[in-house]
Amino acid sequence: MKTIYLDNNATTQVAPEVLEEMLPYLRDFYGNPSSMHTFGGQLHRKVEEARAKVAHLIGAEPEEIIFTSSGTESDNTAIMSAVESFPQKRHIITTRVEHPAVLNFCKHLARRGYRITFLTVNSKGQLNIDELLKAIDDNTALVTIMYANNEVGNIFPISEIGNVLKERRILFHTDAVQVVGKIPIDTKKLPVEMLSLSGHKVHAPKGVGVLYVRKGTRFYPYVIGGHQERGRRAGTENVASIIGLGKACEIAAKNITQESLSLSHLRDKLEKALMHKCPDVRINGDVTSRLPNTTNLSFEYVEGEAILLRLNEYGVCASSGSACTSGSLEPSHVLRAMGVPFTAIHGSIRFSLSRYNSEAEVDRVIEIMPDIIKSLRQLSPFGREKLGESVTSP
Ligand code: PLP
Repeated sequence: MKTIYLDNNATTQVAPEVLEEMLPYLRDFYGNPSSMHTFGGQLHRKVEEARAKVAHLIGAEPEEIIFTSSGTESDNTAIMSAVESFPQKRHIITTRVEHPAVLNFCKHLARRGYRITFLTVNSKGQLNIDELLKAIDDNTALVTIMYANNEVGNIFPISEIGNVLKERRILFHTDAVQVVGKIPIDTKKLPVEMLSLSGHKVHAPKGVGVLYVRKGTRFYPYVIGGHQERGRRAGTENVASIIGLGKACEIAAKNITQESLSLSHLRDKLEKALMHKCPDVRINGDVTSRLPNTTNLSFEYVEGEAILLRLNEYGVCASSGSACTSGSLEPSHVLRAMGVPFTAIHGSIRFSLSRYNSEAEVDRVIEIMPDIIKSLRQLSPFGREKLGESVTSP
């Protein structure tokens, strides 16, 4: 059975061109880019080429790119750098819907005496800029707000927020892990000081990330040791993965506009058809400002994990916001922050597409989903009631 992979916000397939580019650097060119000999020097040049490609994708200068081990490390580093650079300031502003890489790091700092403001969102997952403005004070070291949400796909108004913060001279970091390669990013125009990316969300391998730090921004390293990355992130470079990420960014830069359009076309087709064919479905998130590849749907009166298991029988991979499938003890903090009713959270499914999904795959999901939902609803008393069947005990 062929896998239909619609879980690309969790991770993406390594692009074949990326793998090709990486292989010699896993097999033949194993030197250390810091070594003096020619063998090492070649690798240093390749890492710098990759840096230039990543920089090009986001309109940055190569020196503004720091390679890290992951999106998580980039997020942690950005927050820690702000805290270390402004030790007298002990307040951070973030949102309730961040990825745990930001959320849990902020909670960790809260346990160490920092004051954290977690901004709320409304039922569509939108932020209120006035709430942000009210939260700022003389002690604010950093505002960290994600560019786009991994669960519902909402894109936040990062330019608007950044301009407001610039006027107040507050450091601004954005977690753009879900944005890279999906919509254009131009750090020349985007008023942020720091921005996080992750390789495995853009068809590069897992275990490589990027922190963009605007020239002139005070920066304090988080991983301390050798002089790599101009002393900003110690540790021998993950050469092959960095080269892979460079290639992935080069491909993304070439195709981003076209790819974004075709992704949203496929996503909309899937979403419209499921809304039409399955009763009692709602879209979670802000349909006016969303990533082109993401849809988060709640199927009332059914359990997300049951849907995932049935989809899995057909080789379809997706995600759910309910606790058991999200690898956490709690159901989705994002949907809870949005005030989505518990029944709808439990029946939520996220489909996230990539360039490797075809229309035929989407058609297959449209074909199988209505029966899956109907049969699961027949198993639940609430669902049967909705289907018009008697649920009274004999
Ligand atoms: N931030 C967001 C928005 C994410 O979606 C993820 C991963 O899902 C991360 C950060 C963490 O990235 P990584 O898996 O590279 O640590």
